Amino acid sequence: MDIGGSHVSAVLATTRGRVLRASSLPRGPSDGFDATLRHIREVVDNVSSSPPRGNDLAMGVAFPGVLEGRVGEVLFAPNLRGWVGRNAHPALERTLGARVVVENDANCAAWAEHVLGPGRAGGGEHDLLYVVMGTGIGSGLVLHGQVHRGAWGTGGEIGHTQVPGSGRLCGCGNRGCLEAVAGGRALASVALEIAKASPSSGLGRLRARQGALSAWDLLREAEAGDAPSVEARDRAGLAVGGVLGSAVNLLGVPEVVLGGRLLYRAPGLLSAIRKGFREAVLPQVRSRARLRHARGWEHRNAVGAMLLAQLNAQGQSKSARRGRPAGGF
Ligand SMILES: [Zn+2]
Repeated sequence: MDIGGSHVSAVLATTRGRVLRASSLPRGPSDGFDATLRHIREVVDNVSSSPPRGNDLAMGVAFPGVLEGRVGEVLFAPNLRGWVGRNAHPALERTLGARVVVENDANCAAWAEHVLGPGRAGGGEHDLLYVVMGTGIGSGLVLHGQVHRGAWGTGGEIGHTQVPGSGRLCGCGNRGCLEAVAGGRALASVALEIAKASPSSGLGRLRARQGALSAWDLLREAEAGDAPSVEARDRAGLAVGGVLGSAVNLLGVPEVVLGGRLLYRAPGLLSAIRKGFREAVLPQVRSRARLRHARGWEHRNAVGAMLLAQLNAQGQSKSARRGRPAGGF
């Protein structure tokens, strides 16, 4: 299941990622801890009358934030009110009455890509960095065939890499993060700045008509050739590409997969990202490092969470056979 920015969704899916049944409920921005748990219980009940039980079965939950340790203490969850400092794992197990594996949503998406994505056909461990461009910039890293969480669960969070020359305030509290330069929320702010500075630009006229502006407005105006919008879009795309290329140099992952709704109908943004990526990756491996746009897979996060729960269950049953106590997370 997936706790998304605007919806809570549950799916019943096969191990090959085919969704058999799905249920989704809208989630209000002011919904707190208890309201979100009630929505979670409701969507799960909608897709299955009998939650998985027993030591070798678990339910996977994709969580929109950074989780630390076995109890899944929430360190950071900018789009989920009332969860920071809570222990997500026991709360979800109590709510669902089942064993639960809870994981950062971008990590779930990265794992789904690792298990089911086309790069798998090349064999090997299929290490990859999965990047989600939406309101913010989330990412998940699969290294040596495993989700890499690092010391505090923050491993692979590429959205909070510093971009030289930018002092924009990020939702994490730092300044100059990639997310504060090129995330959807940041692009909406840039759109407003352009509209104010240049009332005769496409964005200026749009603001006069509709009041507020979104990242979509900036990207659409850029696709239509509005010069300040093109410049802002390309600056954001080059920054993303540069950070991703540097990540490839640092980690040696052969593939970066880009997902998220910001890229739909924004080919110019993708081109700028590709350009920044090519310029940043070491020339000696430039022809081999891949940057791929992920398409389709409406329930990628939920399916990835399910696959991680399945992996965890396999580990549990092996541990149990070896006579070790089974852990919960
Ligand atoms: Zn940040």
